[in-house]
Amino acid sequence: MPALTIRQLRKRYPNGVEALRGIDLNVERGDFYALLGPNGAGKTTTIGVVSSLVTKSGGDVEVFGHSIDTDRELAKSEIGLVPQEINLNLFEKIETIVVNQGGYYGLPRALAKQRAEKYLKELKLWDRRRDIARNLSGGMKRRLMIARALVHEPRLLILDEPTAGVDIEIRRTMWDFLREINERGTTIILTTHYLEEAETLCRHVGIIDAGTIVIDAPMKDVLRRLQRETFVLNPREPLSTVPVIDGYELELRKDGDMEISIDKSSSLNGIFDRLSAHGIDIVSMRPKSNRLEELFIDLVENRQSARNAEALS
Ligand code: ADP
Repeated sequence: MPALTIRQLRKRYPNGVEALRGIDLNVERGDFYALLGPNGAGKTTTIGVVSSLVTKSGGDVEVFGHSIDTDRELAKSEIGLVPQEINLNLFEKIETIVVNQGGYYGLPRALAKQRAEKYLKELKLWDRRRDIARNLSGGMKRRLMIARALVHEPRLLILDEPTAGVDIEIRRTMWDFLREINERGTTIILTTHYLEEAETLCRHVGIIDAGTIVIDAPMKDVLRRLQRETFVLNPREPLSTVPVIDGYELELRKDGDMEISIDKSSSLNGIFDRLSAHGIDIVSMRPKSNRLEELFIDLVENRQSARNAEALS
Protein backbone atom coordinates (compact mmCIF):
# COMPACT_ATOMS: atom_id res chain seq x y z
CA MET A 1 0.00 0.00 0.00
CA PRO A 2 1.45 3.38 -1.03
CA ALA A 3 1.82 6.26 1.44
CA LEU A 4 -0.27 8.49 -0.79
CA THR A 5 -2.59 7.77 -3.69
CA ILE A 6 -4.23 10.57 -5.63
CA ARG A 7 -6.72 9.76 -8.36
CA GLN A 8 -8.21 12.26 -10.80
CA LEU A 9 -8.00 15.05 -8.26
CA ARG A 10 -9.79 18.22 -9.30
CA LYS A 11 -10.14 21.56 -7.61
CA ARG A 12 -12.08 24.56 -8.78
CA TYR A 13 -11.96 27.52 -6.41
CA PRO A 14 -15.17 29.52 -5.86
CA ASN A 15 -13.75 32.29 -8.08
CA GLY A 16 -13.74 29.82 -10.98
CA VAL A 17 -9.98 29.11 -11.06
CA GLU A 18 -9.37 25.48 -12.03
CA ALA A 19 -6.32 24.82 -9.88
CA LEU A 20 -6.25 21.03 -10.37
CA ARG A 21 -7.46 19.38 -13.56
CA GLY A 22 -7.39 15.68 -12.75
CA ILE A 23 -4.17 14.77 -11.00
CA ASP A 24 -2.94 11.18 -10.57
CA LEU A 25 -0.06 10.58 -8.21
CA ASN A 26 1.39 7.74 -6.15
CA VAL A 27 3.96 8.17 -3.42
CA GLU A 28 5.44 4.91 -2.18
CA ARG A 29 6.14 4.23 1.48
CA GLY A 30 9.54 5.43 2.55
CA ASP A 31 9.93 7.62 -0.51
CA PHE A 32 11.44 11.10 -0.59
CA TYR A 33 9.29 12.81 -3.19
CA ALA A 34 9.73 16.23 -4.78
CA LEU A 35 6.60 17.98 -5.99
CA LEU A 36 7.77 20.71 -8.33
CA GLY A 37 6.21 23.22 -10.65
CA PRO A 38 6.13 26.92 -11.46
CA ASN A 39 4.19 29.38 -9.29
CA GLY A 40 0.47 28.84 -9.53
CA ALA A 41 0.86 25.27 -10.83
CA GLY A 42 -1.26 23.77 -8.04
CA LYS A 43 1.28 22.38 -5.56
CA THR A 44 -0.09 24.11 -2.46
CA THR A 45 -3.65 23.26 -3.48
CA THR A 46 -2.68 19.58 -3.81
CA ILE A 47 -1.05 19.61 -0.38
CA GLY A 48 -4.05 21.46 1.03
CA VAL A 49 -6.46 18.80 -0.24
CA VAL A 50 -4.27 15.92 0.97
CA SER A 51 -4.13 17.40 4.46
CA SER A 52 -7.86 18.24 4.49
CA LEU A 53 -7.37 22.01 4.59
CA VAL A 54 -8.86 22.55 1.14
CA THR A 55 -12.02 20.80 -0.09
CA LYS A 56 -11.65 19.04 -3.42
CA SER A 57 -14.07 19.29 -6.31
CA GLY A 58 -13.53 15.72 -7.48
CA GLY A 59 -11.32 12.65 -7.32
CA ASP A 60 -9.97 10.46 -4.52
CA VAL A 61 -7.15 10.76 -2.05
CA GLU A 62 -5.91 8.02 0.26
CA VAL A 63 -3.22 8.36 2.90
CA PHE A 64 -1.84 4.95 3.89
CA GLY A 65 -5.10 3.49 2.62
CA HIS A 66 -7.33 5.89 4.59
CA SER A 67 -9.68 7.88 2.39
CA ILE A 68 -9.80 11.59 3.22
CA ASP A 69 -13.58 11.38 2.62
CA THR A 70 -14.55 8.37 4.72
CA ASP A 71 -11.61 8.14 7.18
CA ARG A 72 -10.65 11.77 7.46
CA GLU A 73 -9.39 11.70 11.05
CA LEU A 74 -7.24 8.62 10.43
CA ALA A 75 -5.87 10.12 7.21
CA LYS A 76 -5.06 13.36 9.05
CA SER A 77 -3.30 11.54 11.87
CA GLU A 78 -0.88 10.00 9.34
CA ILE A 79 0.25 13.43 8.13
CA GLY A 80 2.60 16.03 9.55
CA LEU A 81 2.37 19.30 7.64
CA VAL A 82 4.92 22.09 7.48
CA PRO A 83 3.11 24.86 5.62
CA GLN A 84 4.69 27.51 3.47
CA GLU A 85 3.81 30.51 5.61
CA ILE A 86 4.95 30.75 9.22
CA ASN A 87 1.81 30.05 11.22
CA LEU A 88 3.15 29.92 14.76
CA ASN A 89 1.63 31.68 17.72
CA LEU A 90 4.57 34.05 18.08
CA PHE A 91 3.91 34.81 21.75
CA GLU A 92 3.79 31.20 22.82
CA LYS A 93 6.82 29.41 24.26
CA ILE A 94 8.64 27.07 21.91
CA GLU A 95 8.22 23.96 24.03
CA THR A 96 4.53 24.76 24.65
CA ILE A 97 3.89 25.06 20.90
CA VAL A 98 5.14 21.53 20.30
CA VAL A 99 3.54 19.99 23.40
CA ASN A 100 0.14 21.56 22.61
CA GLN A 101 0.26 20.22 19.08
CA GLY A 102 0.68 16.75 20.61
CA GLY A 103 -2.47 17.49 22.58
CA TYR A 104 -4.42 18.22 19.37
CA TYR A 105 -3.52 14.74 18.20
CA GLY A 106 -4.60 13.19 21.49
CA LEU A 107 -1.15 12.38 22.91
CA PRO A 108 -1.00 12.10 26.71
CA ARG A 109 0.81 15.16 28.07
CA ALA A 110 3.81 13.21 29.38
CA LEU A 111 4.36 11.62 25.98
CA ALA A 112 3.91 14.96 24.19
CA LYS A 113 6.56 16.47 26.48
CA GLN A 114 8.93 13.58 25.83
CA ARG A 115 8.49 13.92 22.06
CA ALA A 116 8.85 17.70 22.18
CA GLU A 117 12.17 17.25 23.95
CA LYS A 118 13.32 14.66 21.43
CA TYR A 119 12.48 16.72 18.33
CA LEU A 120 13.51 20.09 19.74
CA LYS A 121 16.87 18.55 20.62
CA GLU A 122 17.24 16.98 17.18
CA LEU A 123 16.38 20.29 15.54
CA LYS A 124 18.79 22.19 17.82
CA LEU A 125 16.08 24.25 19.50
CA TRP A 126 16.06 22.70 22.97
CA ASP A 127 18.22 25.47 24.47
CA ARG A 128 15.60 27.97 23.33
CA ARG A 129 12.60 26.03 24.66
CA ARG A 130 11.55 28.71 27.17
CA ASP A 131 11.85 31.53 24.66
CA ILE A 132 8.85 32.72 22.67
CA ALA A 133 8.61 31.96 18.95
CA ARG A 134 8.83 35.63 18.01
CA ASN A 135 12.45 35.74 19.17
CA LEU A 136 13.58 32.97 16.81
CA SER A 137 15.33 33.60 13.50
CA GLY A 138 13.56 32.65 10.27
CA GLY A 139 15.47 29.37 10.01
CA MET A 140 14.67 28.50 13.63
CA LYS A 141 10.96 29.19 13.11
CA ARG A 142 10.98 26.76 10.17
CA ARG A 143 12.72 24.14 12.30
CA LEU A 144 10.15 24.70 15.05
CA MET A 145 7.38 24.06 12.52
CA ILE A 146 9.11 20.79 11.60
CA ALA A 147 9.32 19.72 15.28
CA ARG A 148 5.64 20.63 15.68
CA ALA A 149 4.71 18.59 12.60
CA LEU A 150 6.55 15.54 13.96
CA VAL A 151 5.26 15.43 17.53
CA HIS A 152 2.54 12.85 16.72
CA GLU A 153 5.11 10.88 14.67
CA PRO A 154 3.20 10.87 11.40
CA ARG A 155 4.25 8.37 8.73
CA LEU A 156 3.98 11.05 6.04
CA LEU A 157 5.70 14.42 6.41
CA ILE A 158 4.72 17.10 3.90
CA LEU A 159 6.82 20.23 3.64
CA ASP A 160 5.79 23.18 1.48
CA GLU A 161 8.90 25.23 0.67
CA PRO A 162 10.59 24.41 4.00
CA THR A 163 13.84 26.20 3.26
CA ALA A 164 12.50 29.32 1.52
CA GLY A 165 14.65 32.26 2.56
CA VAL A 166 16.81 30.14 4.86
CA ASP A 167 20.55 30.60 4.44
CA ILE A 168 22.56 27.85 2.83
CA GLU A 169 24.25 26.57 5.99
CA ILE A 170 20.97 26.14 7.88
CA ARG A 171 19.41 24.67 4.75
CA ARG A 172 22.08 21.97 4.72
CA THR A 173 21.47 21.11 8.40
CA MET A 174 17.78 20.82 7.61
CA TRP A 175 18.61 18.54 4.69
CA ASP A 176 20.65 16.29 6.99
CA PHE A 177 17.77 16.10 9.44
CA LEU A 178 15.18 15.34 6.76
CA ARG A 179 17.42 12.67 5.27
CA GLU A 180 17.79 11.09 8.69
CA ILE A 181 14.09 10.89 9.48
CA ASN A 182 13.48 9.56 5.96
CA GLU A 183 16.06 6.85 6.66
CA ARG A 184 14.22 6.08 9.90
CA GLY A 185 11.13 5.36 7.78
CA THR A 186 9.14 8.58 7.42
CA THR A 187 7.84 9.19 3.89
CA ILE A 188 8.54 12.77 2.84
CA ILE A 189 6.94 14.99 0.22
CA LEU A 190 8.60 18.31 -0.41
CA THR A 191 7.89 21.29 -2.61
CA THR A 192 10.77 23.61 -3.27
CA HIS A 193 12.00 26.35 -5.53
CA TYR A 194 15.55 25.22 -5.01
CA LEU A 195 15.90 22.51 -7.60
CA GLU A 196 19.29 21.66 -6.18
CA GLU A 197 17.45 20.74 -2.98
CA ALA A 198 15.14 18.38 -4.85
CA GLU A 199 18.02 16.86 -6.79
CA THR A 200 20.06 16.35 -3.63
CA LEU A 201 17.34 14.89 -1.44
CA CYS A 202 14.59 13.31 -3.47
CA ARG A 203 14.35 9.91 -5.12
CA HIS A 204 11.16 10.64 -7.02
CA VAL A 205 9.93 13.75 -8.73
CA GLY A 206 6.50 14.90 -9.79
CA ILE A 207 6.26 18.03 -11.89
CA ILE A 208 2.94 19.80 -11.98
CA ASP A 209 2.09 22.53 -14.43
CA ALA A 210 -1.23 24.34 -14.83
CA GLY A 211 -3.05 21.79 -12.68
CA THR A 212 -1.81 18.65 -14.44
CA ILE A 213 1.04 16.28 -13.72
CA VAL A 214 3.59 16.40 -16.53
CA ILE A 215 6.19 14.08 -15.02
CA ASP A 216 6.00 11.49 -12.23
CA ALA A 217 9.12 9.35 -12.26
CA PRO A 218 12.25 8.37 -10.36
CA MET A 219 14.71 11.26 -10.17
CA LYS A 220 17.39 9.33 -12.02
CA ASP A 221 15.05 8.64 -14.96
CA VAL A 222 14.01 12.27 -15.07
CA LEU A 223 17.62 13.42 -15.14
CA ARG A 224 18.36 10.91 -17.87
CA ARG A 225 15.80 12.63 -20.08
CA LEU A 226 17.98 15.69 -20.26
CA GLN A 227 18.92 16.17 -23.87
CA ARG A 228 21.76 18.51 -23.21
CA GLU A 229 24.40 18.67 -20.56
CA THR A 230 26.44 21.62 -19.45
CA PHE A 231 30.02 21.53 -18.21
CA VAL A 232 32.19 24.23 -16.72
CA LEU A 233 35.68 24.42 -18.19
CA ASN A 234 38.44 26.05 -16.20
CA PRO A 235 41.12 27.59 -18.44
CA ARG A 236 44.71 28.16 -17.27
CA GLU A 237 44.18 31.92 -17.67
CA PRO A 238 40.74 33.49 -16.96
CA LEU A 239 39.06 34.43 -20.24
CA SER A 240 37.54 37.73 -21.27
CA THR A 241 35.89 36.38 -24.43
CA VAL A 242 35.09 32.93 -25.76
CA PRO A 243 35.84 31.79 -29.31
CA VAL A 244 33.12 30.70 -31.71
CA ILE A 245 33.54 27.01 -32.45
CA ASP A 246 31.20 25.19 -34.80
CA GLY A 247 28.97 22.61 -33.17
CA TYR A 248 29.53 23.77 -29.59
CA GLU A 249 27.69 26.30 -27.45
CA LEU A 250 30.26 28.21 -25.44
CA GLU A 251 29.50 30.84 -22.86
CA LEU A 252 31.74 33.06 -20.76
CA ARG A 253 31.17 33.06 -17.01
CA LYS A 254 31.76 36.06 -14.73
CA ASP A 255 34.68 34.26 -13.09
CA GLY A 256 36.53 33.86 -16.41
CA ASP A 257 35.60 30.17 -16.71
CA MET A 258 33.60 28.94 -19.65
CA GLU A 259 30.42 26.89 -19.91
CA ILE A 260 29.97 24.41 -22.67
CA SER A 261 26.64 22.86 -23.51
CA ILE A 262 26.56 19.71 -25.61
CA ASP A 263 24.00 17.25 -26.81
CA LYS A 264 24.09 14.11 -24.68
CA SER A 265 24.68 11.95 -27.72
CA SER A 266 27.74 13.92 -28.80
CA SER A 267 31.11 13.98 -27.08
CA LEU A 268 33.59 16.47 -25.72
CA ASN A 269 36.44 14.82 -27.63
CA GLY A 270 37.89 17.32 -30.00
CA ILE A 271 36.85 20.47 -28.17
CA PHE A 272 40.09 20.60 -26.22
CA ASP A 273 42.23 20.56 -29.38
CA ARG A 274 40.07 23.21 -30.97
CA LEU A 275 40.27 25.43 -27.89
CA SER A 276 43.98 24.87 -27.82
CA ALA A 277 44.17 26.10 -31.43
CA HIS A 278 42.64 29.34 -30.08
CA GLY A 279 45.39 29.47 -27.45
CA ILE A 280 43.09 28.28 -24.64
CA ASP A 281 44.45 25.60 -22.37
CA ILE A 282 41.86 23.83 -20.15
CA VAL A 283 43.16 22.61 -16.81
CA SER A 284 39.97 21.12 -15.35
CA MET A 285 36.29 20.65 -15.99
CA ARG A 286 33.21 19.76 -13.98
CA PRO A 287 29.55 19.11 -14.74
CA LYS A 288 27.40 22.13 -14.00
CA SER A 289 25.29 21.26 -10.98
CA ASN A 290 21.55 21.62 -10.97
CA ARG A 291 20.74 19.49 -13.95
CA LEU A 292 17.17 19.34 -12.73
CA GLU A 293 16.95 23.08 -13.21
CA GLU A 294 17.91 22.75 -16.87
CA LEU A 295 15.24 20.13 -17.41
CA PHE A 296 12.63 22.07 -15.51
CA ILE A 297 13.21 25.24 -17.49
CA ASP A 298 13.13 23.28 -20.76
CA LEU A 299 9.96 21.49 -19.88
CA VAL A 300 7.98 24.32 -18.36
CA GLU A 301 9.06 26.92 -20.93
CA ASN A 302 8.27 24.58 -23.81
CA ARG A 303 4.82 23.91 -22.42
CA GLN A 304 4.30 27.62 -21.84
CA SER A 305 5.25 28.48 -25.43
CA ALA A 306 3.04 25.65 -26.73
CA ARG A 307 0.15 27.11 -24.73
CA ASN A 308 0.87 30.59 -26.04
CA ALA A 309 0.98 29.28 -29.62
CA GLU A 310 -2.34 27.49 -29.04
CA ALA A 311 -3.91 30.65 -27.65
CA LEU A 312 -2.81 32.59 -30.73
CA SER A 313 -4.05 30.07 -33.28
P1 ADP B 1 1.46 26.66 -6.36
O1 ADP B 1 1.49 26.18 -4.94
O2 ADP B 1 1.95 25.64 -7.32
O3 ADP B 1 2.12 27.99 -6.53
P2 ADP B 1 -1.38 27.04 -5.88
O4 ADP B 1 -1.94 25.71 -5.54
O5 ADP B 1 -1.10 28.00 -4.75
O6 ADP B 1 -0.07 26.86 -6.78
O7 ADP B 1 -2.37 27.78 -6.88
C1 ADP B 1 -2.93 27.14 -8.03
C2 ADP B 1 -3.92 28.09 -8.68
O8 ADP B 1 -5.04 28.27 -7.82
C3 ADP B 1 -3.39 29.49 -8.95
O9 ADP B 1 -3.95 29.96 -10.14
C4 ADP B 1 -3.88 30.27 -7.76
O10 ADP B 1 -4.02 31.65 -8.09
C5 ADP B 1 -5.22 29.64 -7.48
N1 ADP B 1 -5.60 29.71 -6.06
C6 ADP B 1 -4.89 29.25 -5.00
N2 ADP B 1 -5.56 29.44 -3.86
C7 ADP B 1 -6.72 30.05 -4.19
C8 ADP B 1 -7.86 30.51 -3.43
N3 ADP B 1 -7.93 30.38 -2.11
N4 ADP B 1 -8.86 31.08 -4.13
C9 ADP B 1 -8.81 31.20 -5.46
N5 ADP B 1 -7.80 30.79 -6.24
C10 ADP B 1 -6.76 30.22 -5.62
